[in-house]
Amino acid sequence: STAEIGLIGLGTMGAALALNIADNGFDIAVWNRTSAKTDAFHEGAGDLARRITPTQTLEAFVAAIKSPRAIILMVPAGQPVDDQIAALRPLLDADDLIIDAGNANFHDTNRRSAEAGDLPFLGIGVSGGEEGARFGPSIMGGGKRESWDRVEHILTAIAAKHKGISCATWMGEQGAGHFVKAVHNGIEYADMQMIAEVYGIMRDGLAMTSDAIAETFANWDNGALRSYLIEISGKVAATQDPATGRPMLDVIVDAAGQKGTGRWTVIEAQHLAAPIPAIEAAVVARNLSSQREARAAAEVLFGSAPHHIAHDVLPLSTIEDALIAGKILCYAQGFDMIAKASDAFDWALPLPAIAEVWREGCIIRSAMLDDMATALRENPERNLMMAPRFADTLKQTHGALRQVVAQAALHGLALPALSSGLAYFDAMRTGRGTANMIQGQRDFFGAHGFARIDGGSGHHGPWAA
Ligand code: NDP
Repeated sequence: STAEIGLIGLGTMGAALALNIADNGFDIAVWNRTSAKTDAFHEGAGDLARRITPTQTLEAFVAAIKSPRAIILMVPAGQPVDDQIAALRPLLDADDLIIDAGNANFHDTNRRSAEAGDLPFLGIGVSGGEEGARFGPSIMGGGKRESWDRVEHILTAIAAKHKGISCATWMGEQGAGHFVKAVHNGIEYADMQMIAEVYGIMRDGLAMTSDAIAETFANWDNGALRSYLIEISGKVAATQDPATGRPMLDVIVDAAGQKGTGRWTVIEAQHLAAPIPAIEAAVVARNLSSQREARAAAEVLFGSAPHHIAHDVLPLSTIEDALIAGKILCYAQGFDMIAKASDAFDWALPLPAIAEVWREGCIIRSAMLDDMATALRENPERNLMMAPRFADTLKQTHGALRQVVAQAALHGLALPALSSGLAYFDAMRTGRGTANMIQGQRDFFGAHGFARIDGGSGHHGPWAA
């Protein structure tokens, strides 16, 4: 037994992660349900093959790892993880550590942690896709701190680095890491949706070509919006279809796929009563995008909207500012949800450290996250939109967001995430809202009682019959 760690599941992510671990100088044993894949993986590992021990049986796999063992599972989330744990545990010692590194629902990770009892178990969220897994993902750990400490040196070594600081952090007990990963994915949905919405304004409102749109994204990638998602959006817009010579975007069907992590975030936000309208809007938009036939029929019935907007009405700099405002509001919502979960689940989630592990390696990595980390370090309790640096930016950009949302509404362009971001902003800055009417209604029909502005709760109205 020479391997410092073991990994099960040599699919897209597992294979990349195993190579990354070997590349960082750790000997690793691997096992895969289909043995042929294990051999092919080892043969294709080049120089790194000497650090990799391929095994054909679970028994041989376990025997190849130094005790006390640490074993990463990289198999599909759900039942396969439970099955794999059940197959593995009988072969392990009481101090051997199992690490589920797939996209588990954090409720499952909570359950598995409870089922593990005193047996070491970690659930870690890994973000960054295949490329991230191979060359440096963002890692969000959950489980017992002492279990994390056993493998921290490996996980920090393989993770992405931001100015030398590793993007791998322990988030808290049980499913805390997978929870943070879910919110990451929710924010990712909203970030992508807002970019898709401004793409729509440029394509349908301003009648810009894909090349012009690509150039715009490339320009924005040099400013406040600098991020992986803006960068790749520019590259997507710039790419031609080899078969037809048309822009790739013009040959891709406008129905978005999803694996469900955004949906989990939204469902959890409802349980927590955490307002994350931009993320909810993004999930709804994906659901709606798949109703292609109904959309086509509605377009015939109602006619298409008068999309065209004059360039001087909506300059590109206004759209850029609107996206900046929308992005701040979306992240403010995401971090607010994390703060609420931290209280509700007794987790002490480290908000500044979360912003820090998202700075590199993951899909939502961006220049703005660096400022968010700083703002959250200054005061993790405060809603991000109120942190001075973001408040200043919002003061400068919410007018642009209003312009964009208003023009889009007038021209029949749907902006679900950006407009919900604006509604969130306006609701947040309205000291005296309209829920007094709702309280009046609730008391009228259900005698639910209300608080009075001059003091006291449980009052009832003298309602007319
Ligand atoms: P793949 O489908 O590429 O690979 C799945 C692996 O799991 C294969 O090695 C497969 O073995 C094995 N496997 C499947 N079912 C079982 C089972 N019942 N028992 C044991 N092994 C099984 O998946 P990915 O690598 O893409 O994803 C793995 C995990 O990582 C998932 O939880 C995913 O959500 C998560 N993830 C994926 C990302 C991505 O960008 N792809 C990003 C971040 C997380 P076999 O060869 O025998 O089929």
